[in-house]
Amino acid sequence: MASNGPMVLCDNLVKIYKVQDLEVVALQGLDLVVERGEFMAIIGPSGSGKSSLMNILGGLDRPSAGKAIVDGIDLLKASSMALTTYRREKVGFVWQQPSRNLIPYLSVVENVELPMIIAGAGSKARKAWSQELLEAVGLWERRHHSLHQLSGGEQQRTAIAVGLANKPVLLLADEPTGEVDTVTAQSILDTFRRLNQQYNLTIVTVTHDLRVSNQVDRVVAIRDGRTSTERVRRVHEAVQVAEEDSAEGVGVEPSAAPEQIVTYHEYVVVDAAGRLQIPRDMLEKMGIAGRVEIEVDDDGIRIKPAQALATTTAQAARASEAVDEWGAQPRTKDWRLRVSDAGKGLRGILGKSKNASSASKQDGQQS
Ligand code: ADP
Ligand code: MG
Repeated sequence: MASNGPMVLCDNLVKIYKVQDLEVVALQGLDLVVERGEFMAIIGPSGSGKSSLMNILGGLDRPSAGKAIVDGIDLLKASSMALTTYRREKVGFVWQQPSRNLIPYLSVVENVELPMIIAGAGSKARKAWSQELLEAVGLWERRHHSLHQLSGGEQQRTAIAVGLANKPVLLLADEPTGEVDTVTAQSILDTFRRLNQQYNLTIVTVTHDLRVSNQVDRVVAIRDGRTSTERVRRVHEAVQVAEEDSAEGVGVEPSAAPEQIVTYHEYVVVDAAGRLQIPRDMLEKMGIAGRVEIEVDDDGIRIKPAQALATTTAQAARASEAVDEWGAQPRTKDWRLRVSDAGKGLRGILGKSKNASSASKQDGQQS
C-alpha cells in the first residue's frame, strides 16, 4: 500500500484560482520533496501560497497542473472518492484556529474518538489509541474536560490528537502557532517533535515564526508560489565536525546536550528548469535588477551585476527603434535577412539599423 518513495513529491506544481474573470496564480511551478519521517516547516510572506500548498497536500483542493504525490497517491489524478478516502486515512490536518478541528460540546477524549467512530473503529481500539494519543500530547489527565476549560495551547494539542486519530502517515499544520504566545507555541512544537520521534511521523508545518525554524529538520521558504531557499538543521555528535562547519561560515549553536552541536546550512533551490530565486536582500545589496552577468569558475557560478548595464539599455532602446523601422517596411526577403543578422548579436543589429534607418529616409524622400 505505502510506496517507498518520498512522503511528498511536488513537481512543477501549479494552483490557479479563478475568481469571476480574474485568475490568481497561487503556486507557479513549485517543487518540494519531503522524506518519510521528516519534521519540516514552510515559511514565506503572506500570500506566497503556503495555505494553497497545504490545502492541496491535505486533499482539500485540487492542483491545477503539475505533480502532487503523497505516499504514492497522485492528488491531481485521484478520483473524488479516492480523494475522500485519502483525506480520512492518510492525512491529519491542524489549523491555526483549534476550533476548526474541534467540536465544542464534546469533551477532549470524545473529540479524539469521533473521527475513529466515523471510520468504524471498534471501541477497544478506540479507547487504547485515544489514551495513547492523549498521553503523547500531555492531556490524558484532562480527557474529560470540555474545551472551554482548556487554554489555547491545550486546545491546539487536542486538535493535534484529533488530527492523528485515524493514524495518518502525514500531519499537516497551517500556522498552528499563529494565534498563541511564545510559551504555548513552544509546547506545540515540543508536541510535534515528540510525535515525530515516537511514531516517525512526517510533519509539515507552515509558520511565519522564524523561531520555529530552529526546531525543525528543514525549513523551506516559499516566495511568489515557488520554493526559493532551504535551511537544513544538522545535529553533530562530535565537536570537530562543528569546527569544520563553522569554518564554512555556517551558524553554529550549542544544543541542550553538551556533546551535540547543531548547525544550519542554507541553500537556494534550483528548479527543474534551472531557475533560482536570489534572496531579495542580496539583490538589493549588489544593486542587481533586470540583468546580470554570470561566470563559471572552478568553485561554481558567479552572478555579478551587469557591468555595462547603462550602455546595454541605451543600445537596447536603439535596437528596438531600429526594429520598429524594419517592421514598417514590407516583409521582403531583404527584411528577413536583417533579422537573421540580429541573431549575431546586438552589434549586428545596430550596424544594420543605421543602414535601415537611412534607407527608410531615402524611401520617404522619394515618395
Ligand atoms: P499564504 O497562505 O502564504 O498567505 P495563500 O495560499 O493563502 O497564501 O494565497 C496565495 C494567493 O492565492 C494569494 O494571492 C491569495 O489571495 C490567493 N488565494 C488563496 N486562496 C484563494 C481562493 N480560494 N480564491 C482566490 N484566491 C485565493
Ligand atoms: Mg495561509
